[in-house]
Amino acid sequence: MKLLVIGAGLSGLVTAIEVQSAGHEVIVLEAQGRVGGRILTLREGLSDGQFADVGAEIIYQGQDNLIRLCERFGLELSQELSLGPGVPTLIFGGQRLSEGAAQELAAEIQAAMQHTRPGHYETIAQWLRRAHVSQQAELLLTAIAQSTPAGPLRIADAEELNADISWGEGYRKIVGGNDLLPRAIARELDIRLGQAARIIGWGRHGVTVETDRATFRGDRVAITVPGPLVPELGFDPVLPADKVQALLQLRYGNATRIVAQYAERELLKGAIGPGCFTDRIPGFIMDQSIHQTGDKIVVGGLAAGDSEPVGQRDEELLDQLDATLSSAAGRPVKRIFGTVKSWTRDPWSRAVVRALIGDQRQSVLPTITAPLDGRVFFAGEHTDERVGPGGMEGAIRSAYRVSKQILAEA
Ligand SMILES: Cc1cc2nc3c(=O)[nH]c(=O)nc-3n(C[C@H](O)[C@H](O)[C@H](O)COP(=O)(O)OP(=O)(O)OC[C@H]3O[C@@H](n4cnc5c(N)ncnc54)[C@H](O)[C@@H]3O)c2cc1C
Repeated sequence: MKLLVIGAGLSGLVTAIEVQSAGHEVIVLEAQGRVGGRILTLREGLSDGQFADVGAEIIYQGQDNLIRLCERFGLELSQELSLGPGVPTLIFGGQRLSEGAAQELAAEIQAAMQHTRPGHYETIAQWLRRAHVSQQAELLLTAIAQSTPAGPLRIADAEELNADISWGEGYRKIVGGNDLLPRAIARELDIRLGQAARIIGWGRHGVTVETDRATFRGDRVAITVPGPLVPELGFDPVLPADKVQALLQLRYGNATRIVAQYAERELLKGAIGPGCFTDRIPGFIMDQSIHQTGDKIVVGGLAAGDSEPVGQRDEELLDQLDATLSSAAGRPVKRIFGTVKSWTRDPWSRAVVRALIGDQRQSVLPTITAPLDGRVFFAGEHTDERVGPGGMEGAIRSAYRVSKQILAEA
């Protein structure tokens, strides 16, 4: 059996390695000149051998398939880190809130969640109106929701908001940068870079994938491109109407990543801790070099949802990050490197992660993931069936699901 995989993000790579390990021929077609998709680690331009994760940042609690995959490919993980045992640092109005004030805000939100239970198909914006929380609590909730699923509050599901606000929850990182994982998997595969799939044909005798440069033939095809891009692909014969309807119902988080390196490591560590929420752009900031050597600090910020800057120049955004960090630190800090990337405007992603609402896992996802004639299969972060954003774990889980389906047909 010969499988064509479209997309060399985590979901495509894991699908490919699973099917190849079972003894089949696999070719992965990737539009870009690199593998990893929404996992992207920047090393060039940073000093002291440090790096910045411009896409996926952390391994959350419960991302067990991801951890096992790292182990399988011999990658070292950092120790467990956390945003703090109490509440994380909050920088509102340019000032760091005292721990007591931050705890009060967290307690207010938890109480509001208990008194005013989020409704089925209620957005966070709607719930905020109903729950009458204070303006500062609203700011904090906005910052939390914009860290994940990074969607505007008017589409994010209030029922999926992290009501316990479990700040202390541990997270880990891949030592050396997150892109080491996709690169390690890719070394074992036949990957064709710069091959953007345009049209997928399927029939009784097999499948074809036309790119700008060539036509590939196989027995089966796995489509692992980000959800917003599936309705951009040509299909011949056309996709069933209910599948397109379902695809168009899904919403996604949007965000711009801002990363910068500063000289003042200890000062900034003291000011923002391992990470902080702010009422400015970016609303969520993390110390990305917490597990890195070197005497500089790499800071990653996320400007998401309705606060994703449109039309603002990169330099202005970096200046805003400098201003937030300087006010938190109590004196001006010196940026030695900085870069900005919008994932919403990236033609090969158009999104950060999916932002499901209500019962879409049951009502919409099964239609999106249903294979066509045992020939065409659908994976990717957006197809994960767990609660919340799929993230890296969701991409891997979708790959395990789809590779089982493919092997069952082989
Ligand atoms: C800013 C940001 C922060 C994030 N933070 C986290 C985090 O902290 N933790 C976490 O778990 N997850 C995080 N995520 C989410 C995580 O990165 C994704 O869920 C995961 O990497 C998605 O993998 P995927 O394979 O489904 O899709 P992708 O990684 O997007 O891979 C899809 C691939 O398909 C390719 N492609 C697209 N169209 C075509 C075409 N026509 N032909 C050929 N190839 C095509 C793309 O170039 C890409 O390589 C974050 C994402 C972003 C953007």
